Formats: sequence, C-alpha cells, structure tokens
Amino acid sequence: MNHYTLNFSTKKLKINISFLLKILFFNFFIFKHSLSFEINEVAEGLFVHFGKQEDSNETNNGDIANIGFIVGSKSIAVIDTGGTPQIGMNLLKKIRETSSLPISHIIITHSHPDHFFGTQALINDKVMVIGHEKLERALITNFEFYKNLQFNLIKQKSIKQTKLVVPNKTVKVGKIETIDIGNREIEIRAWKSGHTDNDLSIYDKKTKFFWSENIFIHRTPSIRASIKGWKSNLDEILKMDINTIIPGHGPLKKKNQAIDPMMSYFNRLIKEVRKFHKKGKTLKDAQNLAAQKNKEKWLLFDSYHSSNVTKTFTELEWE
Ligand SMILES: [Zn+2]
Repeated sequence: MNHYTLNFSTKKLKINISFLLKILFFNFFIFKHSLSFEINEVAEGLFVHFGKQEDSNETNNGDIANIGFIVGSKSIAVIDTGGTPQIGMNLLKKIRETSSLPISHIIITHSHPDHFFGTQALINDKVMVIGHEKLERALITNFEFYKNLQFNLIKQKSIKQTKLVVPNKTVKVGKIETIDIGNREIEIRAWKSGHTDNDLSIYDKKTKFFWSENIFIHRTPSIRASIKGWKSNLDEILKMDINTIIPGHGPLKKKNQAIDPMMSYFNRLIKEVRKFHKKGKTLKDAQNLAAQKNKEKWLLFDSYHSSNVTKTFTELEWE
C-alpha cells in the first residue's frame, strides 16, 4: 500500500464519518420533533392534533394550532397543516400510519402562519387546496413577512425554504362548498370578516362536528379583522346543528360552552370601548383601561388584549 492510497482512504473515512454523523443528527432531529406529535381520533374517522396554547417559540417548535384530517371511504381531507414544514411532515406521517387512502383535499382555514406553513409536505398533483376567496391575496401579501416571523420565533432552517402554496379552489363569502371523500360529505363555508377576512369552517355532516378557527377556547381570541363581524359569525354558528366544536385553538367543547366566553368578552369590549368614545377619550386611554379585568380567564391575555382594544376602538369610532 503506498502513501497516496493510505491518505485517500483516511480522507474517505473522515468524509463517511461526518456523513454518518449528519444522518444520525438529522434522524434524531426528526425523531425528537415527531415524538411529541400526537393525533387523537375525536370521532369516527376524524383526527385532531391539538397545538399548544402558547405563542410560537423554539421550545414548542411552532406547534400551536389545531390541525388534523377526516377519513372517508375514498380519500382523506386535511384541515390545516401547522406552523412549520416539520409539522406538515409529522402530520403526513400520522396520516400514513392511519390510512393508505390518498389525500384529496387540503383545507386552509385562514391566512395565519401557524395554520398553513406545513402545506408543502402534504400536496400532490391531484390534491385540491381549498381556501376562502380572500385567502390567496392575504397569503401572497404576507408570506415573506410570515416566513421571517416564523423563522425568528422557531429557528428552524426549513422554514426559510418553504414555498407558498395557494388554493386552487376557492369558496365565496357566505357560500358553502360540499366535498365528498366517500360516504362522507363535508361542508366548507366561507365567512364574512371575523378573526380574519378569510375564515373558513368545516362541518362534518356524518358526526356533526364543526371545526372553526373563529372559535378560541381558553386562548384569548385575537381580533384581526372585525369584532362585530366575528360576533355575528358566532350568532350564526349558535343556530347551527352542531354536536361538538373543534376550535382553531384549545380543547373540544359543546357549542354554548365554546361560544359563551367569547361573547362575554366581545360584549364587554364593545360596551367599554363605546364608553371611551362617548367621553371623547383617546385610543391610549382605552388601551390602558378598557375591559382590563380578565373575567373569562383567557390565556395570553396580556399579549392580545391591548391590540383587541385597538381594533375595537377603530372599528367603533364612526358608528
Ligand atoms: Zn389565526
């Protein structure tokens, strides 16, 4: 064996070891991140992964929204895809462990990044990606901003490589689109402005389970579009024949249990902000003093209440 060959093999060995270590590290990363990913069958063929009731960070890995899927006799409809590509992959893994049927639909409930950054992992040539008629514009406008935001909060490189997936099927405001995944009809409804201006809900006719990101359980509802619009959406939901609510954030609840605390908070906000307007007080006064008591015991109240007051204050300014 001459010198040259020996050097060459040592180098090769080093490359192989570093390659193996990389693979090992990558697998450990995947293992660590998929280990805590649980999926619950909350009704027959209806699976939910419950996100943490926190804001996205490096510890929870952006896993803060409820996402899941419904299995029919022919195919599977996915509802939201999570806040990172990794969460999308975790969801796909759980889907494949559950059923070998194809994914036919991905329903994106609205344009917030904790709900759609995993979409890429779940798409295929035939999948129908369904969104509110105003979803695409909201996604395109905010995508770069959300990508940086998610990366800065969660610090996973794959977030930077995420490509935007826009819907190829839209639902018009006030309309209901029914899809059939095989002996199972699902109604997808596009709402007027509430949590955002592009909110979709999902109603599984078989189980009467209703999935809506307009409903927040325990976590402070964050008003991004319209408090009055949101209230009227909740009024409509109260009239529906619903067995159980799957909220965008938080645990399952019966209809009134889910909606009453939100109504209480919204009514309180509106009532108190109106008083500030009547007395000619400024937005700053309202932000500091309006509806400060967290009567409904919301989580993350300090993070969201003040911006809810701002939104309510501007919305009620000209009424
Ligand atoms: Zn949201």
